[in-house]
Amino acid sequence: MSSQPTVVMKFGGTSVADAEKIKRAARRIVAQHEAGKRVVAVLSARGLETDELIKEAYEVSPHPDPREMDMLLSTGERRSCALCAMAINDLGHRAISLTGSQAGIVTDTSHTKARILDVRADRIVQALDENMIVLVAGFQGVSTSRDVTTLGRGGSDTTAVALAAAVGAEVCEIYTDVSGVFSADPRIVAGARKLPLVSFEEMLEMAASGAKVLQLRAVEYARTHGVRIHCRSSSEDGPGTYVIGEDETMEHPLITAVTHSTEEARITVVGVPDRPGAAAEIFEALADANVNVDTIVQNEPRTDGVDAEVSFTCATEDLRLAEATLAPVIAEFGTAEVQTDPGVGKVSIIGAGMRSHPGVAAKVFRVLANERINIEVINTSPIKITCLIRADAVDQAVNALHSAFDLSASDVKAESGLGQAAR
Ligand code: ADP
Ligand code: ASP
Ligand code: MG
Repeated sequence: MSSQPTVVMKFGGTSVADAEKIKRAARRIVAQHEAGKRVVAVLSARGLETDELIKEAYEVSPHPDPREMDMLLSTGERRSCALCAMAINDLGHRAISLTGSQAGIVTDTSHTKARILDVRADRIVQALDENMIVLVAGFQGVSTSRDVTTLGRGGSDTTAVALAAAVGAEVCEIYTDVSGVFSADPRIVAGARKLPLVSFEEMLEMAASGAKVLQLRAVEYARTHGVRIHCRSSSEDGPGTYVIGEDETMEHPLITAVTHSTEEARITVVGVPDRPGAAAEIFEALADANVNVDTIVQNEPRTDGVDAEVSFTCATEDLRLAEATLAPVIAEFGTAEVQTDPGVGKVSIIGAGMRSHPGVAAKVFRVLANERINIEVINTSPIKITCLIRADAVDQAVNALHSAFDLSASDVKAESGLGQAAR
């Protein structure tokens, strides 16, 4: 075991989008190496490359085969790594790029959304021992049936965290196009505040409710394996946001962040038979097809003949799959039909402090009412309140809630525990 500390540095798509940015990432990687660190860098595909590859697949096939889809999608991150390795070699350091498979990332067999089962990091460790900089293609692995898999959108974050755990890195640095995790998406709320520290508990809720700055699975993996995440800017120096254990935070502010998503679709099954097991059949079929569902609501059938309905949301990218999966279930129900609504959005507020404060939900509903925004479904956890609304009202809702709960830089209250801890 080397006495030198190891760091994992992950660069997202916009941070490696062109030759200049790849060279800039290469310089940052080299700077850490020159400072005496063993460096594993994880790179995403450049810019919108993953979107373009998906588009290409649908141009040749309406239902691309998932295995072949993964063969295609995994190329984006390999390209970035090979280019960056060349740039690092030109800076006078030795770098080696590895695919997810070569890096020992073993996953289950669920193509396009695979889960990491094991990381066999011996090849990485050997290269580090030889004083090399190791570049690993993010977002991919090899399945237990030896096929190339990908880890779901945003999956390079999870690659980075898993490698950090496997090599015992002191920190997993996530370099991105914003300077950290903010109190709301800074692209939507101009006065959003950078959070110096955020707890795993809150970050999990934020990632699950649309703050795509860190992939949900990456946060889960980091919490389980005790990996320290530092999310920061790829273009500026200076600290970003540390994701830390609950016990490390001093106290919790009432509300930490407002999150949103417009990439949700709502599916309603109308005419669900009024018998035990009907809901189980719907959701077992969806689970078997690997469709992640959220915000489930079931209405009882009414005595005046209105049928029972089961409604839920899923990611827009899963809508087609969900519909196809439900077709045979509906056929078996006989009278049921499936309605879809791709125009749904969701807005959530998250804060560990709301657990012990009454009145937060009432305030959220009042703020949205004042904006004349209709709430279609409400879903809560002890530290989160989510409202489904129309997608085109999401920006307005996020801004109104951010301002009503005083989350802007200028409004930060002195008693905010996380803010104090970082000062
Ligand atoms: P990368 O390509 O580096 O992985 P992503 O696009 O996946 O970057 O994530 C960064 C983006 O996340 C930002 O550009 C920002 O628009 C968005 N985002 C959404 N919510 C937040 C938030 N609360 N804090 C910071 N960024 C957020
Ligand atoms: N390139 C993949 C995506 O766009 C993975 C990632 O960037 O993390 O989703
Ligand atoms: Mg990302």
